[in-house]
Amino acid sequence: MYILYEVADKIATITLNRPEAANAQNPDLLDELDAAWTRAAEDPDVVVIVLRANGKHFSAGHDMRSSGKVPVPDKITLELIYQAESKRYLEYSLRWRNIPKPTIAAVQGRCIAGGLLLCWPCDLIIAADDALFSDPVVLMGIGGVEYHGHTWELGPRLAKEILFTGRAMTAEEVARTGMVNKVVPRDELDAETRALASKIAEMPPFGLRQAKRAVNQTLDVQGFYAAIQSIFDVHQTGHGNALSVSGYPILTKLDEMKAAIK
Ligand code: ZN
Repeated sequence: MYILYEVADKIATITLNRPEAANAQNPDLLDELDAAWTRAAEDPDVVVIVLRANGKHFSAGHDMRSSGKVPVPDKITLELIYQAESKRYLEYSLRWRNIPKPTIAAVQGRCIAGGLLLCWPCDLIIAADDALFSDPVVLMGIGGVEYHGHTWELGPRLAKEILFTGRAMTAEEVARTGMVNKVVPRDELDAETRALASKIAEMPPFGLRQAKRAVNQTLDVQGFYAAIQSIFDVHQTGHGNALSVSGYPILTKLDEMKAAIK
């Protein structure tokens, strides 16, 4: 069980529970996570959904060397990459973004690359003061993670800077861009998130649903949905190039990144 799930006082809490691997996402973890989001979305007793993580880090990103039920094939082709990433790194994130209930992510420690694909789709983000957000995927010869929230969340200049350098951003820095709603001391993260969720849970559910739709629809009219789709395909050309140049170097790079933060 990589995901824990509980409901109390109209709030569903979904917890990433692979702390020994810094909550790195293998396919099983993501499939369990999607099932938990669906369960919360469909439960009439749930008004607000909280996503949190056990351990020191929110998520170290994608774990492509699967340790679960979904095997890594012997021969990796662009078709296989496209197929797997369409499902787990694009469709999942968009589905979570459009769940018709308010969602809040609570983020501590490292949130690297694929970690952003878990918190960006949430409506609100509360960050602990030790949170560090980064997308070093350019190091792998690809222009960023599959779901291009960067420009929307950070503005174009900071988006380019962090992609060009691979550097991490502090919680305070991303609070200034509006990417996170609030920065709180690490030991108050759960309590602060709970307090915000409880406040929202007292509002009329249909009003909340309409408010969320209004904001998401505004972004979609501005091009969010179309941009996310087309940049996913740009990302895939990076995978295609990596395959043609050197086979599949990404596994090595990811392992290096994981080793660096343990
Ligand atoms: Zn990818």
